[in-house]
Amino acid sequence: MELTNIGTIKELFAKHGFSFTKSLGQNFLINPTVCPKIAEMGGCKKGAAAIEIGTGVGVLTKELALRCDKVIAVEIDEGLKPILSETLADFDNVEIVFADVMKTDLHALIAEKLQGYDEILVCANLPYYITSPVIMRLLEEKLPISAVTVMVQKEAADRLCAKVGARDCGAITVAVNYYSTPKMLFRVNRGSFMPAPNVDSAVIRLDISRTPKYTPKDEKLFFEIVHAAFAQRRKQLINPVASALKIEKAVLAEILTECKIKATARPEELKMEDFVALSDRLSEK
Ligand code: SAM
Repeated sequence: MELTNIGTIKELFAKHGFSFTKSLGQNFLINPTVCPKIAEMGGCKKGAAAIEIGTGVGVLTKELALRCDKVIAVEIDEGLKPILSETLADFDNVEIVFADVMKTDLHALIAEKLQGYDEILVCANLPYYITSPVIMRLLEEKLPISAVTVMVQKEAADRLCAKVGARDCGAITVAVNYYSTPKMLFRVNRGSFMPAPNVDSAVIRLDISRTPKYTPKDEKLFFEIVHAAFAQRRKQLINPVASALKIEKAVLAEILTECKIKATARPEELKMEDFVALSDRLSEK
């Protein structure tokens, strides 16, 4: 069954009485070249297991199942159940968990269903309304996964893959670089989806660091500073950081200078090492 064929999708929808729910970010892929590329570039191979978030009609699920030993997919919309029973009938290595990924205990899911595989990969065409929270959960929870390969809106991809210390950088860029090495893979135009969204997309890959690349003395404080600094991205960081940490601006100015950071610096001018140095110095206070 050709799951990127518009006629096939419409037939499946009519047969099972399914219609799109826009609020769930249901833009399904209809470009046949994209899913095999996500699976290949996401590192899918024998011995590995994949976790997918959001199956749609199973177009990417199938490509993951063809390459990996096991696929666990989390899908919120139970209306897709009869469609998936039909489209994935030939695959006995796929299990679909009908649940909200944001409310799913991923550590428990992995412990229960994905023991003994060489590696665990996450591959998905993410629902856009939860792109950042999903990515942050996958990173912050320190799951035993080796890479996250996801389609996101182009603008989000640019932010996630920006250089820390460059104009496109945001708090999430720092977080992503803290836990992983991000890479822009390829762009996907809006016409590759049904229904077509208003913006283009891109596929990115985050290779999760096995050993931490950065080790601030106080990780919580490090992220508190990063979030405060980027609350007003184009403004000097001194005001929001002094206010969030409840310290005198003049004291912070001295500390910034000690850390070789200009007191007038904007957050987008700092490198990872600068945030670590600032956080370590402030942890001594
Ligand atoms: N993988 C399919 C594809 O590429 O055509 C579907 C991708 S579509 C962009 C996003 C999918 O995520 C939809 O199937 C939607 O129902 C599902 N979804 C939305 N919110 C979700 C959530 N909180 N938890 C799990 N799945 C969700």
